[in-house]
Amino acid sequence: RAKELGRSLYQFYSTDMEKQSSYLMLLETGLRKAIERNELELYYQPQFDLVSNKVTSYEALLRWKHPTLGYISPGEFIPLAEDTGLILSIGEWVINTVCQRIKKWNESGYEPISIGINLSAKQFQQIGLVDMIKENIESNQIFPGCLEFELTEGAMQDAKKTLRTLNQLKDVGVRISVDDFGTGYSSLSYIKRFPIDTLKIDQSFVRDVLTDEKDAAITTTIIYLAQSLGLSVIAEGVEDEKQVEFFKLMGCHKAQGYYFSKPLPEKEIIEHYFKKKTK
Ligand code: C2E
Ligand code: MG
Ligand code: MG
Ligand code: MG
Repeated sequence: RAKELGRSLYQFYSTDMEKQSSYLMLLETGLRKAIERNELELYYQPQFDLVSNKVTSYEALLRWKHPTLGYISPGEFIPLAEDTGLILSIGEWVINTVCQRIKKWNESGYEPISIGINLSAKQFQQIGLVDMIKENIESNQIFPGCLEFELTEGAMQDAKKTLRTLNQLKDVGVRISVDDFGTGYSSLSYIKRFPIDTLKIDQSFVRDVLTDEKDAAITTTIIYLAQSLGLSVIAEGVEDEKQVEFFKLMGCHKAQGYYFSKPLPEKEIIEHYFKKKTK
């Protein structure tokens, strides 16, 4: 019996694991070719000023359209891209694309547009990152302040290196935000020492902010912290009007979430949100 059970368990696990690993291999092979095959696309989610009710900026979010599997979410392929090192070329593609788009939008006569770009930990530690960003800004002749790089606390582990890279980025003139703020391990002394512009309140605190007293206390404290330090603060994952009211009342400058808009393809943000400069 035990032997039989053992065998069937073995079969169960092995087929399950085989399925899992062949799926991962399929993704990895596909991801290696995704850039050259033009399967990556950027969606943009607007970020709103809660006082003026206007769009202040957009976050660029990667989408991968796999030829047979359809859309694969970044939650699934970014970790794989990190493990395989593919994140470096994918990340560079994102920066190239955003800078080229901003140039094109400027030339088309739209009002200046700011874009948030996610940087993964590996990318942030990459040698030559700052130069690559600088080259993209210069070759596209864009204003550096229209780029805001989003880093999670996890990417900022090594304090000395982080401080050096962040200072170099500030010298280039781009903005820095801490993504998913409150979910990582960064101590408050980091917030003090690093040249950070914005705290992004993680959506896990936002989701139940109206019903969970702890979430309300945490978000209020983050807003107060940001205000006291002269930082900008944005609530992520805002899905309904009551949450908007809460954040407005608490003095949070900005919000982003399905309540306002889902991430949209380029064509749609142009249609819905872009305004032509008036001469
Ligand atoms: P993130 O940077 O924290 O981005 C916010 C995520 O929340 C996005 O998921 C967005 O679509 C989603 N979201 C926005 N509003 C709402 C809302 O109201 N409710 C809910 N439930 N979700 C909302 P997405 O696009 O699937 O991206 C997931 C993560 O993948 C991102 O989290 C980011 O860490 C990573 N990612 C996306 N694009 C890139 C990229 O170009 N480079 C790197 N390194 N990572 C990226
Ligand atoms: Mg982000
Ligand atoms: Mg986030
Ligand atoms: Mg996240």
